Amino acid sequence: MYHKNTDYKSLLYIGSLHKREIGEEWTHRWTNQPSTLRSKFHVANRIPPSTKPTKRLITLDRCTFSRTLQCRTGHAHIGDYYRRFVPSENQSCHCSDTLQTRTHILYECKTHFRHRHLLGIGRTRNIEVLLGSEKGISRLARFLKTSRAYEKRDSESPNDVRHNGRRRGRTRGAGTGEGSS
Ligand SMILES: [Zn+2]
Repeated sequence: MYHKNTDYKSLLYIGSLHKREIGEEWTHRWTNQPSTLRSKFHVANRIPPSTKPTKRLITLDRCTFSRTLQCRTGHAHIGDYYRRFVPSENQSCHCSDTLQTRTHILYECKTHFRHRHLLGIGRTRNIEVLLGSEKGISRLARFLKTSRAYEKRDSESPNDVRHNGRRRGRTRGAGTGEGSS
């Protein structure tokens, strides 16, 4: 179509310009305002932002994507999160009275022993690799999907091997590799 106005720009072109500006602004903020060391997300925050949807958003089922994100951000239905934000909830793992932390679930919990190889071996299973690199996140997602770790449990969960009323008990110091620092 011919336009007399030589300044004519299609909506599509203007939209792409806006998207590029947003992407650049986001990257600028991400570079200059790093997450705090106290944040549970800090160790995962290593991949520059993008306005394009990630491959995992497109390929993972919704539940696995959600739990992968929960694991990476620390905002999850696990004891360590409850300890900080919902202290009325049970904070111990279903395997024992150990405080249920991300480190415990990924590296220590006997419930997930047979799925742990999915996380990789040696350095490839380091926490910063699993949470902050594309390949690591892929392995993490596979582990979470297969093991069903990070699923929200209810009081009648068959995974809860404890049959008594000690819902609030826990042992501090065990499995708290990340601590609260
Ligand atoms: Zn456990």
